[in-house]
Amino acid sequence: MIELKGLSVEELEQFAISIGEKAFRGRQIFSFLAAGKSIEEMTSLSLPLRTKLREIADDTVAEIERKQVSASDGTIKYLYRFADGELVESVLLRYKHGNSICISTQAGCRMGCSFCASTINGFRRNLTAAEILEQVIRTQYDSGQRISNIVLMGIGEPLDNFDNVIKFLHLVNDERGMNIGMRHISLSTCGLVDRIYDLAELGLQVTLSVSLHATNQKTREAIMPIAKKYDFETLLKACADYELATKRRISFEYSMIDGVNDSSEAAHELGSALKGTLAHVNLIPLNHVDEKSYRKSKRQNIENFKSILEKYKLSVTVRRSLGNDIEASCGQLRAKSMKEKK
Ligand code: SAH
Repeated sequence: MIELKGLSVEELEQFAISIGEKAFRGRQIFSFLAAGKSIEEMTSLSLPLRTKLREIADDTVAEIERKQVSASDGTIKYLYRFADGELVESVLLRYKHGNSICISTQAGCRMGCSFCASTINGFRRNLTAAEILEQVIRTQYDSGQRISNIVLMGIGEPLDNFDNVIKFLHLVNDERGMNIGMRHISLSTCGLVDRIYDLAELGLQVTLSVSLHATNQKTREAIMPIAKKYDFETLLKACADYELATKRRISFEYSMIDGVNDSSEAAHELGSALKGTLAHVNLIPLNHVDEKSYRKSKRQNIENFKSILEKYKLSVTVRRSLGNDIEASCGQLRAKSMKEKK
């Protein structure tokens, strides 16, 4: 079976020609798929063509396994199931300035960050470009909400699935399909330095978010195994090089963990390290994960941390937490469902 959702416009044009159709049918199919339509719903194609497509091709790669709507803020969490039974989460976040979707790039994760729920059941496999794209298309279609922003901050490490993620970015960006601008897409990484350089070379306009979570090598190494491979200084250097190469400002994510990385000294250390850069710092109060013992920082410590960073003239925000009542943070729903299935 041919996986239609993983094909670019050019590939679909070739496919159309290969089954005796005109190339423009490929472009039509691409637009229909992006609109969430099934083969049967592509009614401007002839019935014989639709029947043929149904025999040789798949129009979908995921089913909705579960859906939870937050009563408090309208956040919707989808648990998607792929053909081989793997589950991933996508979250639709509704803001005044538009809707954002947080999507997964791998089933599980091998990065092993000690506070993160996505690592709980280990790494299963990479998602294909079609499986990444499907989360955006299905969520928009099912919710009836136009999606204008994408964050690659769900389950998995996007740069550990580099080729499929890049292919996805081109698919979702294509103006004949979902047409979501690169500048409306954020890619979050725990810091795979070699891949950050590869990404810089591609010159895409996506926003790079780097999960820093620590202000020095010692603390970072203690909570993020990737720091053993690429140390703190090497990572910051890669970020500076990335900004130089792409002229795009990097956003640092900093999950605030009580007693681990939230002291005044840590704030000064981070302020000194980032002073003079374009960096934006996004403080994320830790989401509690049942299987982990970490707690979120106290409100007052978060405010204190923020005001110290601002003294270093850094741009700082504290992430508002949405969907708390539906386990909306990455990996939680998947881990729970996998436990229930055992
Ligand atoms: N692998 C990518 C994307 C993962 S998740 C990365 O590491 O950036 C997106 C962000 O949520 C990352 O910054 C991640 O470190 C953070 N995160 C993971 N678990 C968390 C938790 N329990 N509370 C708060 N933030 C968390």
